[in-house]
Amino acid sequence: MQSFDVVVIGAGPAGYIAAIRCAQLGFETACVDKWKTPAGQYALGGTCLNTGCIPSKALLESSENYERVLHKFQVHGITASGVKLDLAGMQARKGRIVARMTGGIAGLFKKHKIAWLQGHGRLAGGGTTWKVEVKGEQGAETVEAKNVIIATGSKARQLPGAAVDNRLICDNEGALAFDAVPERLGVIGAGVIGLELGSVWRRLGSKVKVLEALPGFLGAADESVAREAWRIFTQEQALDIELGATVRAVKVGKKGVTVEYASAAGGAAKLEVDRLVVSIGRVPNTENLGAEAVGLKIDARGFVEVDKNCRASLPRVYAIGDAVRGPMLAHKGEDEGVMVAEIIAGQHGHVNYDAIPWVIYTAPEIAWVGKTEQQLKEQGIAYRSGRFPFSYNGRALGRDEPEGFIKMLADASTDRVLGVHALGGQASELIAEAVMAIEFGASSEDIARICHAHPSMSEVMREAALAVDKRSLNG
Ligand code: FAD
Ligand code: NAD
Repeated sequence: MQSFDVVVIGAGPAGYIAAIRCAQLGFETACVDKWKTPAGQYALGGTCLNTGCIPSKALLESSENYERVLHKFQVHGITASGVKLDLAGMQARKGRIVARMTGGIAGLFKKHKIAWLQGHGRLAGGGTTWKVEVKGEQGAETVEAKNVIIATGSKARQLPGAAVDNRLICDNEGALAFDAVPERLGVIGAGVIGLELGSVWRRLGSKVKVLEALPGFLGAADESVAREAWRIFTQEQALDIELGATVRAVKVGKKGVTVEYASAAGGAAKLEVDRLVVSIGRVPNTENLGAEAVGLKIDARGFVEVDKNCRASLPRVYAIGDAVRGPMLAHKGEDEGVMVAEIIAGQHGHVNYDAIPWVIYTAPEIAWVGKTEQQLKEQGIAYRSGRFPFSYNGRALGRDEPEGFIKMLADASTDRVLGVHALGGQASELIAEAVMAIEFGASSEDIARICHAHPSMSEVMREAALAVDKRSLNG
């Protein structure tokens, strides 16, 4: 029986990063994964690289370019005629990026001498060491592990009565792989995937209607950002989002899908579309993991129970990423992977859960870190707020991205930055400065005193910091 210091189950961003860090720390490491490409080949990278972050961002960029050339270049004095959409070419580019990234992890595994065990992993017994059974195409083998890291990720939550076939009713996998632009696209769930993928297909020509169960829009974001994003998406971009919609039935016909629902006012309504994307959240992959047999605690929602350091209920078993509590974000899982590897090595790994950025890759982008204004109010924390619009920034005007703003929230007595909320072009990149500020316990004055390049979008961050003290220089 092969024996390892660490066996990681799952090679998404949480698992593959954990495996690399373990190998860097000198552990004999194996990583088990069952993911197969549509062509039937085993692939590393999990949801993130194969059907999540990476392919969605490739299509977001391509579809933005298409929209720019059709509608946004004129303002720069550029007109284009004969513009055509080559969706197959766009999808092929996405595929090349995915293949390059997943292949890159295979290269990293080789470099770090990490054994890639292909197949379904399951805890098959304990004792002084753990037994992990790997069932692949060549049959089942059992390996021995001193430590196990569970990084089995998540899958799309199903809507009862709407079986996903990834042809007419799609989850993220199908919605990233359409071979034609649907004329009418329905989306259930106005969360991150609904907004990102709804934007992709709207830009490529679909008439998109999003049905959201909750009465409010983007409840996790700062209310001021959610309000302005709502205005931009629904009024300027004609993304049709209906809040408070309760889906009653989903019926598949020969050519399309009919969604019967009750509107917020309670009236019966019907949505007829060519394709439907269901994006109503994700659930952890913890079935067939052998949890019951070895006594690993799984909570009522299917997450592996862990403490703040990702220690599971059994000795030398850890769990990270989407399979455990906390935001389902790739970078959160990666950081947990590093933390756990370092803890196994006897070091003081930790994750600062208060400094995890969120980004929604719409146009304009939405990004934030730390507390929202509504959270500060609920928690009775006294704060000062500074806000600065992109429309006063020369670089933003040059880029034709005048929309949105950055808002900074700082403690009223210490001035420590508590939250930063951005809506605008490049918000995904700009938020990094705010993450560092929160991680280092910086004050808004610290950011206000830092020299920011001119002209750059980053000046808006400084101006928002200055605005906390009511002394913006350009506004
Ligand atoms: P996963 O990436 O889900 O990987 C888990 C791996 O474990 C898979 O490869 C699976 O095959 C394997 N596995 C599961 N069970 C077993 C088993 N028993 N044996 C062997 N292998 C097993 N997050 C961001 O931060 N930024 C984004 O821009 C972003 N965009 C997204 C876009 C979409 C469309 C989707 C769906 C998600 C997006 N996410 C994004 C979320 C992100 O993909 C997840 O948070 C991230 O992939 C979680 O990483 P993970 O390693 O925990 O799990
Ligand atoms: P989500 O939790 O972001 O949004 C789901 C939405 O569906 C919510 O607004 C919810 O109220 C709504 N909903 C739930 N049940 C419904 C129903 N029956 N009818 C109508 N609406 C319903 O989930 P998601 O968009 O599926 O994304 C899953 C996860 O993937 C996210 O939590 C996020 O962590 C991750 N993700 C991240 C990014 C990013 O970081 N940019 C991008 C995509 C996905």
